[in-house]
Amino acid sequence: VPKHVLIIGAGFGGLTAAKALTDKQDVRVTLVDRRNHHLFQPLLYQVATAGLNPADIAVPIRAQFSAASNVQVHLADVVEIDLNEKRARDASGAPFKWDYLIVACGSQHSYFGHPEWEEFAPGLKTLEQAVEIRRRILFAFEAAENELDPAKRLPLLSFVVVGGGPTGVELAGSIADVARTVLVKDFRKIDPASARVFLLEAGPRLLPAFPEKLAARAAHDLGELGVTVRTGAMVAGIDGTGVEVKGAERIPAHSVFWAAGVQADALTKRIGVPLDRNGRVKVEPDCSIPGHPDAFVIGDAATLPGVPGLAPAAIQMGELTAKNIRASIEGRPRTPYKYRDKGNMATIGKHRAIAETGKLQLSGYLAWLAWLFVHILYLIGFRNRIAVLLEWTWSYLFSKRGARLITGRDWKLPKE
Ligand SMILES: Cc1cc2nc3c(=O)[nH]c(=O)nc-3n(C[C@H](O)[C@H](O)[C@H](O)COP(=O)(O)OP(=O)(O)OC[C@H]3O[C@@H](n4cnc5c(N)ncnc54)[C@H](O)[C@@H]3O)c2cc1C
Repeated sequence: VPKHVLIIGAGFGGLTAAKALTDKQDVRVTLVDRRNHHLFQPLLYQVATAGLNPADIAVPIRAQFSAASNVQVHLADVVEIDLNEKRARDASGAPFKWDYLIVACGSQHSYFGHPEWEEFAPGLKTLEQAVEIRRRILFAFEAAENELDPAKRLPLLSFVVVGGGPTGVELAGSIADVARTVLVKDFRKIDPASARVFLLEAGPRLLPAFPEKLAARAAHDLGELGVTVRTGAMVAGIDGTGVEVKGAERIPAHSVFWAAGVQADALTKRIGVPLDRNGRVKVEPDCSIPGHPDAFVIGDAATLPGVPGLAPAAIQMGELTAKNIRASIEGRPRTPYKYRDKGNMATIGKHRAIAETGKLQLSGYLAWLAWLFVHILYLIGFRNRIAVLLEWTWSYLFSKRGARLITGRDWKLPKE
């Protein structure tokens, strides 16, 4: 009888594990996700700044397994995991039993004990959030065009991104780029190029995961794009009118976006095992849960020394865990996980990026070409690769962004 593998989450880790187990005679797989799509998170900022459409960076999970007879896909939100009973439950109470479990539920934003900030400063983790950020950015320009009082226009044309990691850098650079090269042609009463974009980082420098030289280059390139970078800037308050920075002047801004803290998805708290302070499960070297060799946690929801919360780590853990499960079924020993460093990249505006892999460090146009290549290569789905290439060629040649739609009729400014 084939062993039953339950995989919770079809992100980078879970999808990879399910694909590695496809068509294997000795297992049947149930892949559960609370969304019907696998999302390519590294390009979310492009959706948030109208460079790509939501469907360009997501694929229906079910469609990935239409030809896989041993894989069942379920749309369900798992809320309970019982390691001893080897059973999970979704929100409706439906049970999922397993012989082997892979938890690959990823991460979510952390507002450092200030959940009330979320309403005013959405994060960038899901397609809904990306579309919401796009709505707020585009609507701010429309509202500014309708506003006659210059004092009231200022906060409308001010954008604050909190968090100087890759997501914050990419989002801030892209907002500045859109304002200065795309929107600038379309408005009559306001000058979109005068929009102020702030990037706030509490630490001493941007991009702490990158070498200092590349981070300095990124800060310089952001400055050229018109982004005001403030390091050592600790956010003390956010409301609908602006951002309070500890020991500094308040920044009046209607649009604030959160790219600062992350923590494991709340599902890890339901497993009942020790977590680190970011809610991640402290796993054994083979990614299994201590004391439960048939249950694994992989990707952003797990922590192992020296392993970063990046897509390649989740993919590698997914591949390895699938292999280890089959090894156990066949009575062979398991292999411990070893992170293979694929490097780090971030784009800054339209034509620039920084990248490092091993000893190689790139910046500027060349790094941007490398970034382009890698992102097209790793995008899932042939349709998406073609769509993204066409969109980017179009926007590169004509400085246009095709996805500049404000969706939803709720045109209120954030609550003051
Ligand atoms: C904006 C952004 C930009 C990024 N850029 C890069 C980059 O350039 N390079 C890079 O390497 N990494 C990047 N990352 C990080 C990378 O996306 C993550 O490391 C990677 O997605 C982790 O994979 P995962 O499988 O652990 O989780 P995810 O890919 O997040 O997948 C988790 C899945 O689990 C599902 N899920 C969660 N909880 C439940 C539940 N209770 N029930 C059912 N389903 C559930 C979710 O719906 C989701 O589909 C970026 C992340 C973000 C947010």
